[in-house]
Amino acid sequence: MLTQLKHLEAQSRALDPDTEVRAGLWEAARAYGEAFLQALPEAPAFVLREHPGAGLADLPIPEAGRPFPRILETLSDQVDGVGANGASGRHLAFIPPSSLFAGALGDLLAAITNRYAGYFFAGPGAVRMENQVIAWLAREMGLPEGSSGNLAAGGSMAHLVGICTAREAAGLKAADYPRACVYLSDQAHHCIEKALRVAGMGEAPVRSIPTDSEFRLRPEALEAAIRDDLRAGLRPWLLVPTAGTTNTGAVDPLDACADLAARYGLWMHTDGAYGAAFALTEPRKATLGGLERSDSLVLDPHKGLFTPLGLGAVLVRHLDPLRKAHAFRADYLPSPPEDLEELSPSETTLEFSKHARALRLWLPLQLHGAAAFRAALEEKLLLARYAHARLKELPNVDPGPEPQLSLLAFRFLPPAGDADAFNQAVLNRLTAEGRVFLSGTRLGGAFHLRMAILSARTHKDQVDEALACLQEAALTLA
Ligand SMILES: *Cc1c(COP(=O)(O)O)cnc(C)c1O
Repeated sequence: MLTQLKHLEAQSRALDPDTEVRAGLWEAARAYGEAFLQALPEAPAFVLREHPGAGLADLPIPEAGRPFPRILETLSDQVDGVGANGASGRHLAFIPPSSLFAGALGDLLAAITNRYAGYFFAGPGAVRMENQVIAWLAREMGLPEGSSGNLAAGGSMAHLVGICTAREAAGLKAADYPRACVYLSDQAHHCIEKALRVAGMGEAPVRSIPTDSEFRLRPEALEAAIRDDLRAGLRPWLLVPTAGTTNTGAVDPLDACADLAARYGLWMHTDGAYGAAFALTEPRKATLGGLERSDSLVLDPHKGLFTPLGLGAVLVRHLDPLRKAHAFRADYLPSPPEDLEELSPSETTLEFSKHARALRLWLPLQLHGAAAFRAALEEKLLLARYAHARLKELPNVDPGPEPQLSLLAFRFLPPAGDADAFNQAVLNRLTAEGRVFLSGTRLGGAFHLRMAILSARTHKDQVDEALACLQEAALTLA
Protein backbone atom coordinates (compact mmCIF):
# COMPACT_ATOMS: atom_id res chain seq x y z
CA MET A 1 0.00 0.00 0.00
CA LEU A 2 2.79 2.44 0.91
CA THR A 3 4.61 1.83 -2.36
CA GLN A 4 1.38 2.36 -4.23
CA LEU A 5 0.75 5.64 -2.36
CA LYS A 6 4.24 6.84 -3.14
CA HIS A 7 3.77 6.00 -6.76
CA LEU A 8 0.40 7.79 -6.99
CA GLU A 9 1.71 10.82 -5.11
CA ALA A 10 4.56 11.18 -7.55
CA GLN A 11 2.03 11.36 -10.37
CA SER A 12 -0.58 13.52 -8.67
CA ARG A 13 1.98 16.12 -7.63
CA ALA A 14 2.13 17.15 -11.27
CA LEU A 15 -1.23 18.85 -10.60
CA ASP A 16 0.47 21.27 -8.22
CA PRO A 17 3.43 22.79 -10.05
CA ASP A 18 6.31 24.16 -7.95
CA THR A 19 7.71 27.69 -8.09
CA GLU A 20 10.01 26.96 -10.96
CA VAL A 21 7.37 25.32 -13.15
CA ARG A 22 4.90 28.00 -12.18
CA ALA A 23 7.34 30.69 -13.29
CA GLY A 24 7.23 29.32 -16.83
CA LEU A 25 3.43 29.03 -16.81
CA TRP A 26 2.98 32.55 -15.39
CA GLU A 27 5.29 33.99 -17.99
CA ALA A 28 3.60 32.23 -20.90
CA ALA A 29 0.11 33.14 -19.68
CA ARG A 30 1.12 36.73 -19.04
CA ALA A 31 2.70 36.96 -22.50
CA TYR A 32 -0.47 35.51 -24.02
CA GLY A 33 -2.74 37.95 -22.21
CA GLU A 34 -0.47 40.90 -22.91
CA ALA A 35 -0.18 40.05 -26.62
CA PHE A 36 -3.97 39.82 -26.79
CA LEU A 37 -4.41 43.22 -25.15
CA GLN A 38 -1.72 44.87 -27.26
CA ALA A 39 -3.31 43.57 -30.46
CA LEU A 40 -6.82 44.49 -29.28
CA PRO A 41 -7.05 48.05 -30.68
CA GLU A 42 -6.58 46.69 -34.22
CA ALA A 43 -7.96 43.17 -33.78
CA PRO A 44 -11.20 42.24 -35.55
CA ALA A 45 -14.39 42.62 -33.58
CA PHE A 46 -15.76 39.52 -35.27
CA VAL A 47 -14.14 36.63 -37.11
CA LEU A 48 -16.42 34.73 -39.43
CA ARG A 49 -15.08 31.30 -40.35
CA GLU A 50 -16.46 28.05 -41.57
CA HIS A 51 -16.85 25.56 -38.73
CA PRO A 52 -15.41 27.98 -36.18
CA GLY A 53 -13.47 26.35 -33.38
CA ALA A 54 -13.80 22.89 -34.90
CA GLY A 55 -9.99 22.56 -34.75
CA LEU A 56 -10.34 21.93 -31.02
CA ALA A 57 -11.07 18.36 -32.05
CA ASP A 58 -7.40 18.07 -33.09
CA LEU A 59 -6.51 18.52 -29.45
CA PRO A 60 -8.54 15.84 -27.68
CA ILE A 61 -8.19 15.53 -23.92
CA PRO A 62 -4.96 13.52 -23.57
CA GLU A 63 -3.92 10.99 -20.92
CA ALA A 64 -0.53 12.67 -20.60
CA GLY A 65 -0.33 16.46 -20.54
CA ARG A 66 0.75 18.55 -23.49
CA PRO A 67 3.24 21.43 -23.63
CA PHE A 68 1.68 24.78 -22.65
CA PRO A 69 2.70 26.61 -25.86
CA ARG A 70 0.86 24.03 -27.98
CA ILE A 71 -2.24 24.49 -25.83
CA LEU A 72 -2.10 28.28 -26.03
CA GLU A 73 -1.72 28.07 -29.78
CA THR A 74 -5.00 26.19 -30.03
CA LEU A 75 -6.67 28.58 -27.58
CA SER A 76 -5.60 31.52 -29.69
CA ASP A 77 -6.64 30.01 -32.98
CA GLN A 78 -9.76 28.02 -32.13
CA VAL A 79 -11.31 29.98 -29.27
CA ASP A 80 -9.99 33.52 -29.07
CA GLY A 81 -9.64 33.76 -32.85
CA VAL A 82 -13.26 33.04 -33.86
CA GLY A 83 -16.66 34.66 -33.40
CA ALA A 84 -17.28 37.84 -31.45
CA ASN A 85 -14.38 39.50 -29.67
CA GLY A 86 -15.83 40.11 -26.22
CA ALA A 87 -13.08 42.54 -25.31
CA SER A 88 -13.17 44.73 -28.42
CA GLY A 89 -14.34 48.34 -28.32
CA ARG A 90 -15.74 47.80 -31.82
CA HIS A 91 -18.14 45.15 -30.47
CA LEU A 92 -21.40 47.06 -30.83
CA ALA A 93 -23.79 44.11 -31.15
CA PHE A 94 -26.43 42.80 -28.74
CA ILE A 95 -25.40 44.21 -25.36
CA PRO A 96 -21.61 44.41 -25.63
CA PRO A 97 -19.38 42.94 -22.93
CA SER A 98 -16.11 44.57 -21.89
CA SER A 99 -13.93 42.70 -19.40
CA LEU A 100 -11.95 45.29 -17.48
CA PHE A 101 -8.37 44.20 -16.91
CA ALA A 102 -8.73 44.71 -13.16
CA GLY A 103 -11.85 42.54 -13.26
CA ALA A 104 -9.90 39.78 -14.96
CA LEU A 105 -7.19 40.10 -12.33
CA GLY A 106 -9.88 39.85 -9.66
CA ASP A 107 -11.05 36.59 -11.19
CA LEU A 108 -7.54 35.23 -11.37
CA LEU A 109 -6.77 36.09 -7.75
CA ALA A 110 -10.12 34.76 -6.57
CA ALA A 111 -9.43 31.49 -8.34
CA ILE A 112 -5.88 31.17 -7.00
CA THR A 113 -6.80 31.76 -3.37
CA ASN A 114 -10.15 29.98 -3.83
CA ARG A 115 -11.92 31.69 -0.93
CA TYR A 116 -15.40 30.35 -0.48
CA ALA A 117 -18.15 32.92 -0.82
CA GLY A 118 -21.16 30.74 -0.10
CA TYR A 119 -21.14 30.49 3.67
CA PHE A 120 -19.99 33.04 6.24
CA PHE A 121 -18.29 30.61 8.65
CA ALA A 122 -15.91 29.35 5.98
CA GLY A 123 -15.37 32.52 3.95
CA PRO A 124 -16.15 35.46 6.20
CA GLY A 125 -14.10 37.96 4.22
CA ALA A 126 -15.34 36.81 0.83
CA VAL A 127 -18.93 36.88 2.10
CA ARG A 128 -18.55 40.37 3.59
CA MET A 129 -17.04 41.52 0.29
CA GLU A 130 -20.03 40.22 -1.66
CA ASN A 131 -22.41 41.90 0.78
CA GLN A 132 -20.44 45.13 0.58
CA VAL A 133 -20.74 45.14 -3.21
CA ILE A 134 -24.47 44.38 -3.00
CA ALA A 135 -25.01 47.18 -0.46
CA TRP A 136 -23.12 49.61 -2.68
CA LEU A 137 -25.13 48.62 -5.75
CA ALA A 138 -28.40 48.90 -3.81
CA ARG A 139 -27.45 52.38 -2.58
CA GLU A 140 -26.55 53.50 -6.11
CA MET A 141 -29.93 52.23 -7.34
CA GLY A 142 -31.66 54.24 -4.60
CA LEU A 143 -32.94 51.23 -2.67
CA PRO A 144 -33.27 51.70 1.09
CA GLU A 145 -30.58 50.72 3.61
CA GLY A 146 -30.99 47.07 4.56
CA SER A 147 -31.80 45.98 1.03
CA SER A 148 -30.16 42.73 0.09
CA GLY A 149 -29.55 40.56 -2.93
CA ASN A 150 -27.24 38.15 -4.61
CA LEU A 151 -24.44 38.14 -7.14
CA ALA A 152 -25.41 35.56 -9.73
CA ALA A 153 -23.73 34.28 -12.86
CA GLY A 154 -25.74 36.68 -15.02
CA GLY A 155 -29.01 38.50 -15.49
CA SER A 156 -31.07 35.43 -16.35
CA MET A 157 -29.98 33.64 -13.18
CA ALA A 158 -30.54 36.81 -11.15
CA HIS A 159 -34.08 37.03 -12.54
CA LEU A 160 -34.76 33.48 -11.38
CA VAL A 161 -33.84 34.53 -7.83
CA GLY A 162 -36.08 37.59 -8.12
CA ILE A 163 -39.05 35.60 -9.41
CA CYS A 164 -38.72 32.94 -6.71
CA THR A 165 -38.59 35.74 -4.13
CA ALA A 166 -41.70 37.42 -5.54
CA ARG A 167 -43.49 34.07 -5.48
CA GLU A 168 -42.51 33.58 -1.86
CA ALA A 169 -43.67 37.07 -0.92
CA ALA A 170 -47.09 36.41 -2.49
CA GLY A 171 -47.31 33.00 -0.84
CA LEU A 172 -48.17 31.38 -4.17
CA LYS A 173 -48.57 27.61 -4.31
CA ALA A 174 -48.68 25.45 -7.45
CA ALA A 175 -52.48 25.50 -7.49
CA ASP A 176 -52.37 29.33 -7.70
CA TYR A 177 -50.06 29.55 -10.73
CA PRO A 178 -52.73 29.41 -13.46
CA ARG A 179 -54.28 32.52 -11.85
CA ALA A 180 -51.07 34.40 -10.96
CA CYS A 181 -50.76 36.99 -13.73
CA VAL A 182 -47.45 38.45 -14.86
CA TYR A 183 -47.18 41.76 -16.73
CA LEU A 184 -44.36 42.86 -18.96
CA SER A 185 -44.02 44.92 -22.11
CA ASP A 186 -43.91 43.50 -25.63
CA GLN A 187 -40.22 44.49 -25.59
CA ALA A 188 -39.29 42.47 -22.48
CA HIS A 189 -36.29 40.16 -22.56
CA HIS A 190 -37.01 36.48 -23.26
CA CYS A 191 -35.29 35.40 -20.06
CA ILE A 192 -38.26 36.47 -17.89
CA GLU A 193 -40.59 33.89 -19.37
CA LYS A 194 -37.77 31.37 -19.35
CA ALA A 195 -37.14 31.99 -15.65
CA LEU A 196 -40.86 31.64 -14.91
CA ARG A 197 -40.87 28.30 -16.71
CA VAL A 198 -37.71 27.12 -14.95
CA ALA A 199 -39.28 28.18 -11.64
CA GLY A 200 -42.11 25.77 -12.49
CA MET A 201 -44.54 28.61 -13.20
CA GLY A 202 -45.04 28.05 -16.92
CA GLU A 203 -48.81 28.07 -16.36
CA ALA A 204 -48.83 31.61 -14.98
CA PRO A 205 -50.59 33.86 -17.53
CA VAL A 206 -48.11 36.34 -19.00
CA ARG A 207 -49.58 39.57 -20.36
CA SER A 208 -47.53 41.25 -23.03
CA ILE A 209 -48.45 44.92 -22.68
CA PRO A 210 -48.25 47.06 -25.83
CA THR A 211 -45.67 49.86 -25.98
CA ASP A 212 -45.81 53.42 -27.29
CA SER A 213 -43.97 54.83 -30.31
CA GLU A 214 -40.77 54.93 -28.22
CA PHE A 215 -41.16 51.28 -27.21
CA ARG A 216 -42.11 52.09 -23.61
CA LEU A 217 -44.77 50.13 -21.79
CA ARG A 218 -48.10 52.01 -21.85
CA PRO A 219 -49.33 52.39 -18.26
CA GLU A 220 -52.98 52.77 -19.28
CA ALA A 221 -52.78 49.50 -21.23
CA LEU A 222 -51.17 47.89 -18.19
CA GLU A 223 -53.92 49.10 -15.90
CA ALA A 224 -56.59 47.90 -18.32
CA ALA A 225 -54.98 44.45 -18.42
CA ILE A 226 -54.81 44.27 -14.62
CA ARG A 227 -58.47 45.27 -14.33
CA ASP A 228 -59.51 42.70 -16.95
CA ASP A 229 -57.71 40.00 -15.00
CA LEU A 230 -59.27 41.07 -11.70
CA ARG A 231 -62.71 41.00 -13.30
CA ALA A 232 -61.98 37.50 -14.61
CA GLY A 233 -61.22 36.39 -11.05
CA LEU A 234 -57.47 36.11 -11.65
CA ARG A 235 -54.73 37.29 -9.32
CA PRO A 236 -52.39 39.97 -10.67
CA TRP A 237 -49.04 39.11 -9.10
CA LEU A 238 -45.88 40.30 -10.79
CA LEU A 239 -44.97 43.37 -12.82
CA VAL A 240 -41.67 43.27 -14.71
CA PRO A 241 -40.93 46.64 -16.28
CA THR A 242 -37.72 47.01 -18.25
CA ALA A 243 -35.20 49.72 -17.46
CA GLY A 244 -33.43 49.65 -20.81
CA THR A 245 -34.76 47.12 -23.32
CA THR A 246 -32.35 44.98 -25.28
CA ASN A 247 -33.92 46.06 -28.57
CA THR A 248 -33.72 49.84 -28.31
CA GLY A 249 -32.73 50.74 -24.76
CA ALA A 250 -36.26 51.95 -24.00
CA VAL A 251 -36.99 52.64 -20.34
CA ASP A 252 -40.52 51.84 -19.23
CA PRO A 253 -42.25 54.56 -17.15
CA LEU A 254 -41.04 53.18 -13.83
CA ASP A 255 -42.83 55.69 -11.60
CA ALA A 256 -46.18 54.99 -13.24
CA CYS A 257 -45.43 51.25 -12.99
CA ALA A 258 -44.63 51.60 -9.28
CA ASP A 259 -47.90 53.51 -8.75
CA LEU A 260 -49.89 50.73 -10.41
CA ALA A 261 -47.95 48.03 -8.56
CA ALA A 262 -48.80 49.77 -5.27
CA ARG A 263 -52.46 50.29 -6.21
CA TYR A 264 -53.04 46.67 -7.24
CA GLY A 265 -50.68 44.93 -4.85
CA LEU A 266 -48.20 43.67 -7.45
CA TRP A 267 -44.55 42.93 -6.82
CA MET A 268 -42.45 45.17 -9.06
CA HIS A 269 -39.38 43.37 -10.29
CA THR A 270 -37.48 45.65 -12.67
CA ASP A 271 -35.29 44.32 -15.45
CA GLY A 272 -32.36 46.70 -15.46
CA ALA A 273 -29.89 44.06 -16.68
CA TYR A 274 -28.68 46.45 -19.34
CA GLY A 275 -29.89 49.88 -18.25
CA ALA A 276 -29.89 50.12 -14.47
CA ALA A 277 -26.15 50.85 -14.30
CA PHE A 278 -26.87 54.25 -15.85
CA ALA A 279 -28.40 55.23 -12.51
CA LEU A 280 -24.76 55.87 -11.53
CA THR A 281 -24.79 58.93 -13.79
CA GLU A 282 -26.53 62.23 -13.21
CA PRO A 283 -28.03 62.62 -16.71
CA ARG A 284 -30.02 59.41 -16.49
CA LYS A 285 -31.24 59.65 -12.90
CA ALA A 286 -34.46 61.25 -14.25
CA THR A 287 -35.06 58.70 -17.03
CA LEU A 288 -34.69 55.94 -14.47
CA GLY A 289 -36.91 57.66 -11.91
CA GLY A 290 -38.98 55.07 -10.06
CA LEU A 291 -36.26 52.41 -10.26
CA GLU A 292 -35.73 52.96 -6.54
CA ARG A 293 -39.34 51.94 -5.89
CA SER A 294 -38.78 48.40 -7.23
CA ASP A 295 -39.38 45.53 -4.83
CA SER A 296 -36.51 43.84 -6.60
CA LEU A 297 -34.39 44.60 -9.63
CA VAL A 298 -31.71 43.03 -11.75
CA LEU A 299 -28.62 44.72 -13.10
CA ASP A 300 -25.75 43.08 -14.92
CA PRO A 301 -22.30 44.26 -13.88
CA HIS A 302 -20.98 42.20 -16.81
CA LYS A 303 -22.76 44.69 -19.05
CA GLY A 304 -23.00 48.16 -17.51
CA LEU A 305 -20.13 47.85 -15.05
CA PHE A 306 -17.74 46.29 -17.55
CA THR A 307 -16.68 43.18 -15.60
CA PRO A 308 -15.81 39.91 -17.33
CA LEU A 309 -18.83 37.85 -18.36
CA GLY A 310 -20.51 35.99 -15.55
CA LEU A 311 -21.85 38.61 -13.15
CA GLY A 312 -25.50 39.57 -12.76
CA ALA A 313 -26.91 41.12 -9.60
CA VAL A 314 -30.37 40.83 -8.12
CA LEU A 315 -31.18 43.47 -5.51
CA VAL A 316 -34.12 42.97 -3.20
CA ARG A 317 -35.81 45.44 -0.89
CA HIS A 318 -37.33 42.76 1.36
CA LEU A 319 -34.91 40.30 2.93
CA ASP A 320 -37.55 38.03 4.42
CA PRO A 321 -39.04 36.48 1.25
CA LEU A 322 -35.59 36.43 -0.41
CA ARG A 323 -34.25 34.36 2.47
CA LYS A 324 -37.33 32.18 2.87
CA ALA A 325 -37.32 31.28 -0.83
CA HIS A 326 -33.79 29.91 -0.50
CA ALA A 327 -33.71 28.66 3.09
CA PHE A 328 -31.90 25.43 3.97
CA ARG A 329 -30.56 23.37 6.87
CA ALA A 330 -27.85 20.72 6.85
CA ASP A 331 -26.35 18.56 9.57
CA TYR A 332 -22.89 18.78 8.03
CA LEU A 333 -22.71 22.55 8.57
CA PRO A 334 -21.31 23.93 11.84
CA SER A 335 -24.33 26.15 12.56
CA PRO A 336 -27.63 27.11 10.96
CA PRO A 337 -27.01 29.89 8.41
CA GLU A 338 -29.38 32.28 10.16
CA ASP A 339 -27.28 32.12 13.35
CA LEU A 340 -24.22 33.51 11.60
CA GLU A 341 -23.04 37.09 12.06
CA GLU A 342 -23.54 37.98 8.41
CA LEU A 343 -26.02 36.92 5.74
CA SER A 344 -24.49 34.16 3.61
CA PRO A 345 -24.93 34.28 -0.18
CA SER A 346 -26.12 30.64 -0.15
CA GLU A 347 -29.18 31.86 1.80
CA THR A 348 -30.23 34.05 -1.12
CA THR A 349 -29.76 31.79 -4.15
CA LEU A 350 -29.72 28.19 -5.29
CA GLU A 351 -25.92 28.12 -5.42
CA PHE A 352 -23.94 26.74 -2.53
CA SER A 353 -20.31 26.24 -3.54
CA LYS A 354 -19.87 29.80 -4.69
CA HIS A 355 -16.61 31.32 -5.81
CA ALA A 356 -15.63 34.82 -4.75
CA ARG A 357 -17.45 36.38 -7.67
CA ALA A 358 -17.52 39.83 -6.08
CA LEU A 359 -13.78 40.32 -6.49
CA ARG A 360 -14.17 40.91 -10.24
CA LEU A 361 -16.18 44.05 -9.43
CA TRP A 362 -14.81 44.99 -6.01
CA LEU A 363 -11.23 45.12 -7.27
CA PRO A 364 -11.89 47.47 -10.23
CA LEU A 365 -14.04 49.68 -7.99
CA GLN A 366 -11.32 49.85 -5.34
CA LEU A 367 -8.55 50.37 -7.88
CA HIS A 368 -10.18 52.95 -10.15
CA GLY A 369 -12.86 54.43 -7.90
CA ALA A 370 -16.55 54.79 -8.70
CA ALA A 371 -16.04 58.14 -10.44
CA ALA A 372 -14.27 56.47 -13.38
CA PHE A 373 -17.30 54.20 -13.85
CA ARG A 374 -19.70 57.14 -13.73
CA ALA A 375 -17.62 58.96 -16.35
CA ALA A 376 -17.47 55.90 -18.62
CA LEU A 377 -21.23 55.44 -18.42
CA GLU A 378 -21.89 59.10 -19.10
CA GLU A 379 -19.51 58.86 -22.05
CA LYS A 380 -21.56 55.98 -23.52
CA LEU A 381 -24.79 57.98 -23.18
CA LEU A 382 -23.23 60.92 -24.94
CA LEU A 383 -21.69 58.73 -27.66
CA ALA A 384 -25.14 57.34 -28.46
CA ARG A 385 -26.52 60.85 -28.87
CA TYR A 386 -23.53 61.75 -31.01
CA ALA A 387 -24.02 58.69 -33.23
CA HIS A 388 -27.72 59.42 -33.56
CA ALA A 389 -27.00 63.02 -34.58
CA ARG A 390 -24.55 61.81 -37.22
CA LEU A 391 -27.03 59.23 -38.56
CA LYS A 392 -29.62 61.98 -38.87
CA GLU A 393 -27.27 63.85 -41.22
CA LEU A 394 -26.96 60.91 -43.60
CA PRO A 395 -29.18 60.72 -46.67
CA ASN A 396 -31.42 57.67 -47.03
CA VAL A 397 -31.17 56.74 -43.38
CA ASP A 398 -33.99 56.43 -40.88
CA PRO A 399 -32.04 57.19 -37.69
CA GLY A 400 -34.69 55.58 -35.50
CA PRO A 401 -35.84 56.83 -32.14
CA GLU A 402 -33.70 59.24 -30.09
CA PRO A 403 -31.63 56.96 -27.82
CA GLN A 404 -33.00 56.88 -24.28
CA LEU A 405 -29.78 55.22 -23.12
CA SER A 406 -26.86 53.99 -25.23
CA LEU A 407 -28.52 51.87 -27.95
CA LEU A 408 -29.48 52.89 -31.46
CA ALA A 409 -31.79 51.13 -33.88
CA PHE A 410 -31.81 52.57 -37.40
CA ARG A 411 -32.07 51.51 -41.00
CA PHE A 412 -31.01 52.47 -44.46
CA LEU A 413 -33.82 53.42 -46.81
CA PRO A 414 -32.54 52.44 -50.25
CA PRO A 415 -34.17 54.38 -53.11
CA ALA A 416 -35.11 51.08 -54.75
CA GLY A 417 -35.50 47.47 -53.70
CA ASP A 418 -36.45 45.76 -50.48
CA ALA A 419 -35.23 47.78 -47.47
CA ASP A 420 -35.19 44.78 -45.12
CA ALA A 421 -33.02 42.77 -47.51
CA PHE A 422 -30.72 45.76 -48.02
CA ASN A 423 -30.16 46.30 -44.30
CA GLN A 424 -29.61 42.60 -43.76
CA ALA A 425 -27.03 42.68 -46.56
CA VAL A 426 -25.28 45.64 -44.89
CA LEU A 427 -25.14 43.71 -41.63
CA ASN A 428 -23.86 40.54 -43.30
CA ARG A 429 -21.16 42.52 -45.03
CA LEU A 430 -20.00 44.19 -41.80
CA THR A 431 -19.95 40.85 -40.02
CA ALA A 432 -17.92 39.24 -42.80
CA GLU A 433 -15.43 42.14 -42.74
CA GLY A 434 -15.29 41.90 -38.95
CA ARG A 435 -13.89 45.36 -38.33
CA VAL A 436 -17.01 46.35 -36.42
CA PHE A 437 -19.64 44.03 -35.01
CA LEU A 438 -23.25 45.19 -35.09
CA SER A 439 -26.49 43.28 -34.81
CA GLY A 440 -30.03 43.58 -36.09
CA THR A 441 -33.58 43.43 -34.81
CA ARG A 442 -37.14 43.91 -35.97
CA LEU A 443 -39.08 47.00 -34.94
CA GLY A 444 -42.68 47.21 -36.03
CA GLY A 445 -41.95 44.32 -38.37
CA ALA A 446 -39.12 46.16 -40.15
CA PHE A 447 -35.52 44.96 -40.00
CA HIS A 448 -33.29 47.50 -38.25
CA LEU A 449 -29.58 47.68 -37.58
CA ARG A 450 -28.56 48.05 -33.96
CA MET A 451 -25.56 49.84 -32.54
CA ALA A 452 -25.09 49.20 -28.84
CA ILE A 453 -22.53 51.41 -27.14
CA LEU A 454 -21.50 49.92 -23.84
CA SER A 455 -18.04 48.44 -24.02
CA ALA A 456 -15.58 50.20 -21.75
CA ARG A 457 -13.30 50.31 -24.80
CA THR A 458 -15.82 52.07 -27.05
CA HIS A 459 -14.91 55.73 -27.43
CA LYS A 460 -15.51 58.31 -30.15
CA ASP A 461 -12.95 56.73 -32.54
CA GLN A 462 -14.72 53.38 -32.47
CA VAL A 463 -18.12 54.99 -33.09
CA ASP A 464 -16.71 57.04 -35.98
CA GLU A 465 -15.22 53.93 -37.46
CA ALA A 466 -18.52 52.04 -37.19
CA LEU A 467 -20.32 54.90 -38.93
CA ALA A 468 -17.68 54.92 -41.68
CA CYS A 469 -17.96 51.14 -42.15
CA LEU A 470 -21.75 51.41 -42.36
CA GLN A 471 -21.63 54.13 -44.98
CA GLU A 472 -19.07 52.27 -47.02
CA ALA A 473 -21.09 49.04 -46.90
CA ALA A 474 -24.25 50.89 -47.93
CA LEU A 475 -22.48 52.60 -50.82
CA THR A 476 -21.00 49.35 -52.08
CA LEU A 477 -24.31 47.53 -51.91
CA ALA A 478 -26.45 50.31 -53.38
C1 LIG B 1 -28.85 40.81 -21.10
C2 LIG B 1 -30.22 41.01 -20.63
C3 LIG B 1 -30.87 40.05 -19.86
C4 LIG B 1 -30.27 38.69 -19.57
O1 LIG B 1 -29.11 38.77 -18.84
P1 LIG B 1 -27.90 37.73 -19.03
O2 LIG B 1 -26.83 38.32 -18.20
O3 LIG B 1 -27.60 37.70 -20.49
O4 LIG B 1 -28.37 36.40 -18.55
C5 LIG B 1 -32.12 40.36 -19.36
N1 LIG B 1 -32.70 41.54 -19.63
C6 LIG B 1 -32.12 42.48 -20.39
C7 LIG B 1 -32.83 43.78 -20.64
C8 LIG B 1 -30.86 42.25 -20.92
O5 LIG B 1 -30.27 43.18 -21.69
